[in-house]
Amino acid sequence: MKPKIVRTIEGLRRETAKWRKDGHSIAIVPTMGALHEGHLTLVAEGLEHADRVLVTIFVNAKQFGANEDLSRYPRDETGDVAKLAAAGAHLIFAPKAEEMYGNNFATAVVLKGPAKANLEDKFRPHFFDGVATVVAKLFIQSGADFAIFGQKDYQQLQVVTRMARDLDIPIEVIGMPTVRAPDGLALSSRNQYLTKTERHQATAIHKSLNQAAEKIRNGTDPQKAMRAASRSLTTLGFKVDYVTARNAETLDVPLPRSKEPLRLLAAAWIGKTRLIDNIEV
Ligand code: AMP
Repeated sequence: MKPKIVRTIEGLRRETAKWRKDGHSIAIVPTMGALHEGHLTLVAEGLEHADRVLVTIFVNAKQFGANEDLSRYPRDETGDVAKLAAAGAHLIFAPKAEEMYGNNFATAVVLKGPAKANLEDKFRPHFFDGVATVVAKLFIQSGADFAIFGQKDYQQLQVVTRMARDLDIPIEVIGMPTVRAPDGLALSSRNQYLTKTERHQATAIHKSLNQAAEKIRNGTDPQKAMRAASRSLTTLGFKVDYVTARNAETLDVPLPRSKEPLRLLAAAWIGKTRLIDNIEV
């Protein structure tokens, strides 16, 4: 069945209030649209946890820097609605910017911890302020019980989890494994920017992370393995922002020879497109 689309906070509250009255639990899946199989696994996971799944589609200008891809970010609401209907989502919240940030909006969420890890935050200084502000709003507006996010944006998942915990927002944040193309490339709305050659080259990010993970499992020092991964990507023509091993929860740089769980994270440019990926060791 085609999910209903609401565009106002009032409309959203009306729908969720009806659900609450009927005793239904709610999962929220925040997205920026241009949906692919990765987003749809989040919807499927939402359906596992809750009676009703709300998907939000909002290209949040606050999380884009001045020179970033806001104006060319892919938008396809018609296609998104068809995919969400097939996936079994119950409601779509697709507000305009004025609805979210009208009325002299003057508040932001201030972040530390995983939001200051010298990863995405270093290269996209406004990104997490924008993400946390919109996600806090969506959590509060929806009153959802569960929020489903992708591990594809691993630092974002840690930031959002910490924010919900720190602000006592009564929502359980669930992280889902990254969905990949058959050749290993993490699915991303931004993959649409890649030329055919770049799309082929882009698989090197996941491959180099896997090779580094293998070396680390065999005893190589994590940062040494990551430096080699970075060099190989540079040789292949990438402009590397970071390729690094971090504590999987705090995102701190791991202590030498420690046995803490690691996450390997990378961000690199191929041509005009910036891609990110990460894997666990
Ligand atoms: P976006 O629309 O790209 O901002 O992403 C919305 C949500 O989908 C975020 O929680 C992402 O982490 C998640 N997501 C994006 N790509 C993937 C993927 N390939 N696999 C799993 N989740 C994803």
